[in-house]
Amino acid sequence: MNSAQSTYVKPLPITDGLTDTFWHAANEGDLLVQRCQACQRYQHYPRPHCVHCGSLSIDWQRSNGTGLVHTFTVIHRNDAPGFVDELPYVFAIIELDEGVRMAGNIIDVDPESVHIDMPVQATFVQATDELAIPLWEPATASRA
Ligand code: ZN
Repeated sequence: MNSAQSTYVKPLPITDGLTDTFWHAANEGDLLVQRCQACQRYQHYPRPHCVHCGSLSIDWQRSNGTGLVHTFTVIHRNDAPGFVDELPYVFAIIELDEGVRMAGNIIDVDPESVHIDMPVQATFVQATDELAIPLWEPATASRA
């Protein structure tokens, strides 16, 4: 986990009863995804019911925190505070090993080197004492 950033100025997520578990785990360095206890399938973003079978028996499971770039774009213009200093940066949709897709920036990477199916792993940027934002970085371990 990266060290605390006292100067984090980007918008913060609004947590609620549906997402508190996700954000609490993220603050501990764990990436969670929902898994249906009835049909065993995963889903993301968090919902109170299974999008596959409609069951209300939804639980959280720790993700491997690894996946592949499904698609991405390189942002060259964003004047918003906190973003302007990172230009150009990569915004991506990541397909996790669990099969769900999650949005997030890929950091610590040359934007020119990012490609579809590039292996990435979750990393967390500490935004406040209670909130760490899950982002992505190139995977360091080789994948089978
Ligand atoms: Zn289900």
